[in-house]
Amino acid sequence: MRDYGKILDRLNTANLDFLTKIGTVQGYPIFMVQLGSETGERENILITGGVHGDEPAGVEASLRFLERDNGALLERFRFWVIPCINPYGYVHDTRENREGADINRSFETEEVLEASIVKRAIAQTQFSFAIDFHEDCDATGFYLYEGKRDKQYIGPQIAAVVKNIGPMDDDDSGESEVLIGDGVYEVAQEWGVQGLTPYLLRFHTEHAIISETPTTWPLEQRSALHLAVLDAVLQRN
Ligand SMILES: [Zn+2]
Repeated sequence: MRDYGKILDRLNTANLDFLTKIGTVQGYPIFMVQLGSETGERENILITGGVHGDEPAGVEASLRFLERDNGALLERFRFWVIPCINPYGYVHDTRENREGADINRSFETEEVLEASIVKRAIAQTQFSFAIDFHEDCDATGFYLYEGKRDKQYIGPQIAAVVKNIGPMDDDDSGESEVLIGDGVYEVAQEWGVQGLTPYLLRFHTEHAIISETPTTWPLEQRSALHLAVLDAVLQRN
């Protein structure tokens, strides 16, 4: 069992101005943090982690992002961060929520509470970029999925930049997946809008990346990889 209270402690000590409880599931509050001024011409960036409860590096990366000094980035961007979408799964180390639902296949309907909470929290907002942190227990290295409405993909360049943190997954057998470049797959139209990232691409953003780390790496390395992907994208925006 993981201690969800530690997440709440870290959010509280990060001294964040805009910490909002966007909902509660089975007694666990789900939080969203808005970082950066509401005024001026700032691009909105969405950062999400922990939609699959057994993939803790995304939660860790989100928290580390909130705990670090984002300095100059805050002059250009406003960040919306939901560190842990699936608290029950995080605590119990399950991919699904308590009802056994995969939240990341539940954005098309209002049947799964966690998905509805996220949809409601961002309902009025358009993002210039969204990143969702995931993990893969079968992978030997990191890989990415990218969705971009204009199909001018930057994933291969991003993957090349972050490769110094750890190797890319070398399994490119990828069933029916469309390879954009080394270690980068397309967020396919056929996925519909059940998943968080396809849902965002349909309704809230023109560009999104799913970052995947291998659970065999140390947590430190996995969260560093996720943040390096984010930073590499922001440096190009
Ligand atoms: Zn996942």
